[in-house]
Amino acid sequence: MSKFVFVTGGVVSSLGKGITVASLGMLLKSRGLKVSVLKLDPYLNMDPGNMSPLQHGEVFVTEDGGQCDLDLGHYERFIDTNLTKKSNVSTGQIYWSILSQERRGEFNGGTVQVIPHVTNDIKSRIHAVAEDSGADVILVEIGGTVGDIESLPFLEAIRQMRNELERDSCLYVHVTLIPYIAAAQELKTKPTQHSVKELRSIGIRPDVIVCRSEQEVTADLRSKIALFCDIDEEAVIPNTDVGSIYEVPLCFAETRLDEIVLEKLNLTAGEADLQQWSDLVASIKGLKRSIRIGIVGKYVTLPDSYLSVAESLRHAGFSQGTQVELRWIEAEDLEKGGYGPLHDLDGILVPGGFGSRGVEGKIMAAKYARENKIPYFGISLGMQCAVIEFARNVAKLENAGSVEFGPVQHPVISFRPGQPEITGLGGTMRLGAYPCQIQAGTLSMEAYGETLVQERHRHRYELNHDYLDVLVKAGMRVAGTSPDGELTEIIELTDHPWFVGTLFQPEFKSRPTKPHPLFAHFVAAILGTC
Ligand code: GLN
Repeated sequence: MSKFVFVTGGVVSSLGKGITVASLGMLLKSRGLKVSVLKLDPYLNMDPGNMSPLQHGEVFVTEDGGQCDLDLGHYERFIDTNLTKKSNVSTGQIYWSILSQERRGEFNGGTVQVIPHVTNDIKSRIHAVAEDSGADVILVEIGGTVGDIESLPFLEAIRQMRNELERDSCLYVHVTLIPYIAAAQELKTKPTQHSVKELRSIGIRPDVIVCRSEQEVTADLRSKIALFCDIDEEAVIPNTDVGSIYEVPLCFAETRLDEIVLEKLNLTAGEADLQQWSDLVASIKGLKRSIRIGIVGKYVTLPDSYLSVAESLRHAGFSQGTQVELRWIEAEDLEKGGYGPLHDLDGILVPGGFGSRGVEGKIMAAKYARENKIPYFGISLGMQCAVIEFARNVAKLENAGSVEFGPVQHPVISFRPGQPEITGLGGTMRLGAYPCQIQAGTLSMEAYGETLVQERHRHRYELNHDYLDVLVKAGMRVAGTSPDGELTEIIELTDHPWFVGTLFQPEFKSRPTKPHPLFAHFVAAILGTC
C-alpha cells in the first residue's frame, strides 16, 4: 500500500513548491524507498501543450508523450525517474472526462456535482499513479495557492483521502513564505499563520510547514510558527535561499525533513545515501572555468520557458568543472539590430519553438555560428532553422523554408510522409520517445557511444527527404535517423568543429548527475576537450 504526501502552497506562488517536492522525493529515494510523483494543476486547459511558455514556462515532455507542467522536469531530474502523462492532471482533463461520461448517459439521470464526482475523479487519478508505480510513497503537489477558488476541489479530495485511508497513510506539507520586511528588519510569520488558518478552515491541518525565506529562520521564529499553527516545532522546516537548487535536498536532510516525514507516515527505511549528491553540490561550488553560451529564442524574457535546456547546459558544465553562463538573446533583436549580441559567445544554442516570430533571427544565429565556426546546438526548431539556413546559403536553394510558416518554394522542412492534415493546434504532433539510430563516424556517435538511443519529441515537421541529396552534397551529414531510415533525427555539418541539430529535444533526459551526452559533448567542444 502506498502512502501519500500532499504538498500545498501558501501566501504567494513561485515559492519553489516543485523543488521542495523534488528534493523530498530525492531524499526518500536515497533511503531505498520507491517514490512516484503527481502534480495537480487547477487550470482549465487540458494540458500546457497549447499554453504560451511566456505564461507557464516550458512544456515538459515525458517518455510517453505527455505535455506536462515544468515541475515534472524538476521531479525527473532530482528523483532520477521517468514519469508518465498520468503524473500531471489538470482541472480541464477532469471536467472533460466527467462531461464525456455525462453525455454518454453514464450518470443515469443523476445530478453531476463537484462533490462527489469531481473529487472522486481526482482521487481515482491519484490512486491510479499509486497502482501503476507500486511506489512506497506518492508525492502529490497541488498547484496554485491555498485560498484560490480553483484549487478547492483538489484540497477537498486530498482532505477526504485521509479519512478514507489509514490515518498514517497521508501527510500534509504546507510550503509558505516568511517575508523579510526591510524597514522593520524582521521576518514576518503572520502571512503563514493566515494561510494555515485558511487551510484548516477547509479541514486540512498541515503536519509539516516548509518556510521559504531570504533570511535565516531562527529557532525563536520556528517555535512561534509551531505555536500559532499548532504543529511540532521540529516540523517547521526552514528553507532559506541557496546558491543552486541542487543544494536544497542537502539542506532538507540537515533539518531532518525526510526523517520527520517517515516518522509521521510510520514508515521505516534505510539510511540516506547522499554521497553522489554531496559530490555534485561540491562540484557545483568548485566550478573553476566559465563559458558563455547564447540561447537565441523568442521567449527569453521568461527563462523558465527554456528551463530544461538551461539545466542541461548547467549539468554538462558541472561534470566538466565549468560554470555555464547563459546569455538570453531575443531572436527578433538579431533581425532588427544584426549580429552584435552574438559577438562574444563561446557557443550558440537555438532551442525549440513554434510560430514564425523570430525565426529569421534564429536563422541568422545559425548562419553566424556556421560561418564563424562557433559550436552550434540546434534543438527541434533550432535544427530546422539550421537546415533552412544551410539550404539557402550553402546549397543555394534560395527560397528554402518550412511549411510551418506558409507556402514556400523549397520546403526543406515539411510534413512527414502520410501525416494527416493539420486541423487545429492540438493532436498532430510527434510526441514522446522514439528510437534514433546513430550513424558511425559522427559527433553524435562520439557523444553517445551507442548506436540506438531513445529521445523525446514534440514537433509536427520533419526534414524533407526530397532535398536530402542536395543538402548532403553541400556538406550536411545525417547523424541519426529513425530505425527505418525514413526520418532524419540528427544533422551535423562536416566543415565545422561542432554543429549539431536534433529534431528531438534531448534536454528532457538530462540529469544533474548524468548530463545528457550531446550537451556534455557540446560543452566539451567549447572547452576544446573532445
Ligand atoms: N515548430 C516546429 C515543429 O512543429 C518545431 C517544434 C519544436 O521546436 N519543438 O516541427
